[in-house]
Amino acid sequence: MYTIYEDFQNVSYTKAKFLSDKSYAYDTVFFVSKFIMKFQKNGLFDLKQNMELFNKYIIDMFNRNPASKGTSNYYLEVLNLLEYANVLEKIDHHMYQIKNWEALRFINERMENAYIFNYLVTYHTFKNDGLLDIYKKICTTDSLKEKEKWIQELNAKISVINVSVQTPGTVWEKLNTKYALTVLNFINKQNYVSRELHVQKEIADIESISVNVKGTKTYDNLPKSNNYLKKFDLSYVKDFLKDYLFIKEEEPETSISKDDVIEINEMTNLKLDLLDLQKDIKEKNTEFTGEQYVENVVRSRNAGAQRRFRNNLFKHTEAKCAICGLSIPELLISSHIKPYSKCEEIYDAVNYENGLLMCPMHDALFESAKYITIDAKDGTIKVKKQYAPFMKSFNLTPKTKMDASLLTAERKHYLEWHNQQFEKTNK
Ligand SMILES: [Zn+2]
Repeated sequence: MYTIYEDFQNVSYTKAKFLSDKSYAYDTVFFVSKFIMKFQKNGLFDLKQNMELFNKYIIDMFNRNPASKGTSNYYLEVLNLLEYANVLEKIDHHMYQIKNWEALRFINERMENAYIFNYLVTYHTFKNDGLLDIYKKICTTDSLKEKEKWIQELNAKISVINVSVQTPGTVWEKLNTKYALTVLNFINKQNYVSRELHVQKEIADIESISVNVKGTKTYDNLPKSNNYLKKFDLSYVKDFLKDYLFIKEEEPETSISKDDVIEINEMTNLKLDLLDLQKDIKEKNTEFTGEQYVENVVRSRNAGAQRRFRNNLFKHTEAKCAICGLSIPELLISSHIKPYSKCEEIYDAVNYENGLLMCPMHDALFESAKYITIDAKDGTIKVKKQYAPFMKSFNLTPKTKMDASLLTAERKHYLEWHNQQFEKTNK
């Protein structure tokens, strides 16, 4: 088993500047680490370049407007944490080098590992700074008043050790303690602690350790759920951390399937691939700038996500061409209504509602709205004026309609986009 804790022999509050809500939010740590891995070259990366890309990524992952102040904090605060834990080293004011590949790979493996990493960094900081006994007291008393008393004491000690909190009594002083407790309290089933260091009756939950648990907000009216944080495998985390916990009783936990873990990774990798390709197209001025190039590369690199998309279509819709009804499964293509290259958000890229099963001919005609579209209003198949003479060869009549059951609210939304593309060149 990976002995990640050995890397934290020297962590101490005397050099801590990483403590913030973002660096303690395990989802941020997971995404930023994945991002570093993806865009590093020979273990080096440029802070400025990476941050620019990350700010695009953040719209999707954390529901942040890239133009808003503070967005870059998400990235910088995790870098601080990774530097603090000796995973990264700052070479000059904007270059970083990866020092601990093993730790970075560990975090990249699955979201829960980012939490394990955070827990161990905090645990060893407390241990090295002589704060673990106080934390033990917080955990073992049932009285909320008593807990609060020990938290005050913990806070007083942290503010003495932590040189980055120079002014006792400031908000930041309290926040340092609050964040440290949040990460430890969730796994130890302890009470949630407010920004003012008041102990709440509620037990710290997944929401308190995540910046994104409420879901991905969208620029349109679609209700989109968070695809990344649907599941958190607490049993896995507890099993890994069993030597470091302050809880005694073992209660049954629901664990998530291996498939869920794979799905989360697939989605993240797909998102990174889309960004990577958009970057390539923008910077290198490659001749393969077309939509088709992006589609092919994304599909081949993300076979798992593509397979999942296809399986979902077969599961939720009838196994036949949405246009002509051909029902030979092996001939059906899982067609994106809004293609990968145009999906700003991962939700759209993996959402089976943004797809239809089609026979090879209708898939080819429908793709990018080059020849035909499906009217979002009533499902009528519309052929571009210039191709109207081929209608019969297309196996269509002016009355051909898509099955009404496929016209769901979400699919209509994607079809509206398709209709707009269609109209642009319908001359
Ligand atoms: Zn067909």
